[in-house]
Amino acid sequence: MINIDVLIRTNRKSISISISPQGNIVVKAPRSCSMGEIQNIVSKKESWINLHRQRILDNLELNNKIFTYQDILFCGKVYHVVLDTKSKNIVLENDYCIVPEKFRNNISRALSKWYKKVAMPILWGRVEYFSNLMQVEPKNFRLSNAKGCWGSCNSQGLVSLNWRLIMVPHNLIDYVVVHELSHLLQMNHSQLFWKIVSSVLPDFRVRRQNLKKGDYLLSLFRE
Ligand SMILES: [Zn+2]
Repeated sequence: MINIDVLIRTNRKSISISISPQGNIVVKAPRSCSMGEIQNIVSKKESWINLHRQRILDNLELNNKIFTYQDILFCGKVYHVVLDTKSKNIVLENDYCIVPEKFRNNISRALSKWYKKVAMPILWGRVEYFSNLMQVEPKNFRLSNAKGCWGSCNSQGLVSLNWRLIMVPHNLIDYVVVHELSHLLQMNHSQLFWKIVSSVLPDFRVRRQNLKKGDYLLSLFRE
């Protein structure tokens, strides 16, 4: 039997079932519906509810670990942070991000420093690759620490990419790179601009949407 966490009586005509971001089962039902009828409909949807609820709870657990630096993301892959007395530097090994014991009290600072160091050549590599492909020439490139955006490009041709971009999968990194490089040809977000983006990445809409889901990563390493 499914336990309903929140039952909302409404003027609607049918029953709706949803899972809240915290994993609670929320049922909206007409005032005239009896508890028996509601339970009946909810149990018929049991497998759907369990599947979606589990998916949300898994994500919630992952996000909690990411926010507390127990897990980190690198190019879209999750690594569990472990402290090691023998290590001198931060390294990724299989599913682990090995952090030297000496950083125990400032793990987030050590990690953000490491992230920036490894992000630089990787992000620059993508900028170089797409600059050649698109026949554009950024005047300058730098890593940014911007609070609200993944990348920017100014009229002087300076391309800035948030170093946190190294946390998301390669295809999303490429979307931001192509987006910013397209600004070297079109400084606005006009139709022409999106035409340029889609000529390089025809599936840019999906990538843009998926990147949106990772926006919470921009708030990490701010302490
Ligand atoms: Zn833009």
